[in-house]
Amino acid sequence: MLPYATAGEAEAALGRALTWAEAAWFRYSATTSDYYLYCHHVVIFLVVYTLAPLPLAVLQLRAPAILLPYKLQPRVRLKPAAFLRCYVRTVRVFLLAMGPVQLLSYPAVKMVGIRTGLPLPSAGETAAQLAVYLLVEDYLGYWVHRLLHTKWGYEKIHHVHHEYTAPFGYVGLYAHWSDVLIIGFPAFVGPALVPCHMTTLWLWFLIRQLALLDAHKGFDFPLNPAKLIPFYGGAPHHDYHHRVGRKSQSNFASFFTFCDYIYGTDKGYMFHKASLAKLKEVAQNST
Ligand SMILES: [Zn+2]
Ligand SMILES: [Zn+2]
Repeated sequence: MLPYATAGEAEAALGRALTWAEAAWFRYSATTSDYYLYCHHVVIFLVVYTLAPLPLAVLQLRAPAILLPYKLQPRVRLKPAAFLRCYVRTVRVFLLAMGPVQLLSYPAVKMVGIRTGLPLPSAGETAAQLAVYLLVEDYLGYWVHRLLHTKWGYEKIHHVHHEYTAPFGYVGLYAHWSDVLIIGFPAFVGPALVPCHMTTLWLWFLIRQLALLDAHKGFDFPLNPAKLIPFYGGAPHHDYHHRVGRKSQSNFASFFTFCDYIYGTDKGYMFHKASLAKLKEVAQNST
């Protein structure tokens, strides 16, 4: 809730006119409680989780021949029931575990200094904060994921996420409830270290969710704009992690590839990539 009764009061406090975005934020949040604003993420999550993977899920089911060269595991054909089972179970885990934890974590969000007021952060500030969150989440997430691949962690918790050896978008958040909480924790560390505006926090959760969906989508499209991000792993990187499962001890990082390179957990993937390139070369030469 903003401490100004009118936009004029807000402008007087800032000493300048509100930008278009700030005026829109004022209209939306002036009389809305901060807790209610924080709860928006639960709705954003459910809407994005339901709709974002849907187009590629339909394409996976219909499997048109034109898309087969881009499918990472073209021989695998899943039935609609597999998609539905994944979706229903993920939403149930979210509503029973992740959602309540997020709603109850509001005091911590206030304590670390997530703000809702004016001014809104600049584009540069937002981009810098998101970059920090990505790097922190990628590094901590790498080690948390690696721990979940120890014998105990895998057999007790993480094996659920690996039930689908050929992932599709909905698998991104399909996991044991404790896995969702454990592997989701690093996403909160960045905002705790570098507090941001509530709108940046929404954006961060949205980016993280979309990155998870992208990594699990099961296709490798050459024009994917995410490929412009340096060291971005994406679907080929994480699809290999699912394909070989626990045995691989490969490709633990969620966004980038450098942690796996630095700690030597990308060797199996590199060998796999080199083998694929060789097969392609042989096929091209023979035709
Ligand atoms: Zn794993
Ligand atoms: Zn996965």
